[in-house]
Amino acid sequence: MVGGRAGAGDRGGSKSEVCEALDRNVGAMTVRHNRCAFCFADSEEFPLLTAEHLLSRPVASSFGIDRTATFARFDEDDSQIRWTTVNGVKRKCVCAACNNGWMNALEHDMGRVANWVDAGSAELRTGELDVLAAWSVKTHLLLCHIEGRAGEFGDSDEAVVPPASAARAVYERRFSDLDGLVLGLAANSSDTDFAYEFGTPGRVSFGDQLRGGRTCPVSIVSVGRLQIWILTPLPLDPEVRVADGVRAAAAGLRFEDLTAMPAIGNRASISINYRADWPLG
Ligand SMILES: [Zn+2]
Repeated sequence: MVGGRAGAGDRGGSKSEVCEALDRNVGAMTVRHNRCAFCFADSEEFPLLTAEHLLSRPVASSFGIDRTATFARFDEDDSQIRWTTVNGVKRKCVCAACNNGWMNALEHDMGRVANWVDAGSAELRTGELDVLAAWSVKTHLLLCHIEGRAGEFGDSDEAVVPPASAARAVYERRFSDLDGLVLGLAANSSDTDFAYEFGTPGRVSFGDQLRGGRTCPVSIVSVGRLQIWILTPLPLDPEVRVADGVRAAAAGLRFEDLTAMPAIGNRASISINYRADWPLG
């Protein structure tokens, strides 16, 4: 059984506000429709983008997930339910070289993380944490495109801010640059073996002013018995609060020490307070 849910939350915040914040903080690496979301290849006139599956065959296999199972995607705002299969959740936003190269290797490397989950009492090694962080960023970026319209960022007030600098760090294997990533872990306690929730935090503020949630896309992904929480706030010294029990991903962590949580995470429990000066003064 699998399930997913996507919700808009309190988006808002003007386009220019978010664009300028990005310009000043992450170099405005806006991801365009026809660019690879990871390496930004756009040298060809019509670059060939390939479809990347949210859940790949190797990861489904190592975590024991049936990719052909029917999958319900809930849209919070209009209460529509779209039926599809896990295999059908994909997006054309990755170039063939990335898809067939390092991303394919990463999907296979996730088997090491599955082994850590299965072992229960084993400590998470640094190399496994790097794989887990890279896969989480990859999956989060895909969800930003599939559910958060990240490909339209700059053109649409609805689009979330794509985590472009984290994606680039994964592509260049600069894992130490992912240290600031908000990556949390829990144990998926339900029978649902694949589920995701995507959206924005329950609260995003700058001091006592509420700000647009789309500056901090959130993905909560249950893959087998592991639940991954990943948030990518703007680098404005964010103070981050997530649900009680979610542990920060770190080397040395044991799977058996993670807190059991429902398959669908509670995005509303997340709050972000940006403490740095807001770029627009
Ligand atoms: Zn690429």
